[in-house]
Formats: sequence, structure tokens, C-alpha cells
Amino acid sequence: MTGRLRLAVPNKGRLVEPTVKLLRDAGLVFEEHDRALVARVQNLDLDILFIRTNDVIEFVGDGVADLGVTGVDLLAETGAELPRIRELGYGRCRLAAAAPNDSPIRVIADLAGLRVATAHPNTTRRFFAEQRLEVDVIPISGAVEVAPRLGLAEAVVDLVSTGSTLVMNGLRPIGDVLASEAVLVANPTAHRQRADELDAIDTMLSSVIAARDRKYLMLNAPATTLPELERLLPALESPTVIPLAHAGMIAIHSVVGADEVWSLLPRLKAAGASGILVLPIEKIVP
Ligand code: AMP
Repeated sequence: MTGRLRLAVPNKGRLVEPTVKLLRDAGLVFEEHDRALVARVQNLDLDILFIRTNDVIEFVGDGVADLGVTGVDLLAETGAELPRIRELGYGRCRLAAAAPNDSPIRVIADLAGLRVATAHPNTTRRFFAEQRLEVDVIPISGAVEVAPRLGLAEAVVDLVSTGSTLVMNGLRPIGDVLASEAVLVANPTAHRQRADELDAIDTMLSSVIAARDRKYLMLNAPATTLPELERLLPALESPTVIPLAHAGMIAIHSVVGADEVWSLLPRLKAAGASGILVLPIEKIVP
């Protein structure tokens, strides 16, 4: 197969902004004309199709697109068996069961014999079947969190990230059904026949994702402190050590987790480090 690859991405909703940012951070140059259906990538043989989130899986399944960005929850709900290329590290949320604060429902097992409203009926039915619980699953397409107040159901299964929507609606989470995040999926035929091209795009995206939670760290220190500093800095492989003009002094360069920087800095200083620089990393290709 030849021709430009096609990547389907959502044109509305929570996944749009982080997806477009990931594509741009990966170095893809394209113009969005008010999210017209197709954007042509100028520096790669790739077209981006902006379509409804719910259509992404179908487009990729049918081969209209070779790749797509969607949510793990949507994949689970449609039951589509598309090759998953990579989790993308954003759009993180969970499908959780929740009940009104004033209800006696405390744990998942308390839902036996009750009605549960959800926009993810297939996933929810599968979950309760696995738990061997008889639950009446009520499919609704939106505003799931108001279902108990409307008397439609005793509880809900809904997408939650911070939990503030639940709180605002007087609901309390009682257990998780599924963890979700954005995921890159492929058409099965394209996955077999255009593996190299898909791999190249995966590398572009994964190098950005890998860099996002890491920082580049540079510091100076007396050479005698090297063993202790090395112990504090387990880098990708091993830290770079460079002799400085001042006799007995070295510079160390290393890559560290972004969330450990603040706890690491005082320990590096205590071990003799000075002139510490922390820099962002654009891409990491291991
Ligand atoms: P929506 O923006 O409601 O069209 O949701 C599209 C997809 O974004 C969902 O199927 C989830 O994969 C993801 N998503 C939904 N709600 C959240 C949330 N609260 N936080 C993060 N991602 C979410």
C-alpha cells in the first residue's frame, strides 16, 4: 500500500487540545482551518482527519484512517479489537461507580438488584457480569450524574478525573470499573502492511511523551563526590561526567524524573554539588 497515511483525531471534546499539542510538539507542521475535516501535514506524508470522537474507532476499523487517537474507555465500549500502538499519557480518567451521598450504598456489591445509569452500558454490563452481580444497567447518552436525582437509577457509572463533577452533584465514588487514557490505535491491515511508516510516527510521538516527565540536570562538583552523586543520579544509562578547567572539579549531566527534581536538589547540594541547572527536554529517543 502507498499514498499518504491518515490519522483520525477527535474534533471536539477533551481530547482535542492535548492531541493537537502532542502532534505539534512532535514537530508536525499543519494548519487547522477551523478544524476542517482534513489537515495536510506539510513535512510528512500524513493527513490528519478531524472527526467526532465517537467516529474515530469506526474510521480506523474500516480503514478510512490508518491510525487514530481515542480513549481506552471508548475502545472498551465498542469492543473494537484494534492494535493498540501506545498509551499517550493524557486524557487520564476512570470509569467509576458512584452513589448519592445520602444513600446506604457503600461498596460495589451493594448495587445488586439496583439500577445503574451510564453512557458506557457495554463496559458496565461486562464489569457487573465479572463481579457476578445482577444489576439493571440503564443506558443514557449524557448528563449521567443527574440520573439518581431524576429517579432514573439508584447509582451511576461515569467518567471521573478529579471527581469534582461527582461532588457537585452530591455523588460519592464507591469503586472503579476501568482506568482510561488517550491511546493511539491502528487499522489492522495498515499495522501489517505499513509497519515501518506507523513505527516512524509512533517514534515521533513517543519521544515527546517520554520527554514530558523528565528534566535535564547539569551540575558542578568536586571529583571526590562522584560516587555519592552517581548514587543519587541513576540516569537513562549512566550520567555524563566531564572534567572542568579547575583541577579536581567535574560537571555531571543527567536525566531525572520531573517529579523527583525538588526532593533531589537539596540532597545534591548536601553531597557537594553547585551551579545546578534544570532544563526541559524536547524529545527522548532511547
Ligand atoms: P468528551 O470530551 O466528553 O467527548 O470525552 C472524550 C473522551 O475524553 C472520553 O471518552 C475519555 O476518553 C476522555 N475523557 C472524558 N472525560 C474525561 C475527564 N474528566 N478527564 C479526562 N479525560 C476524559
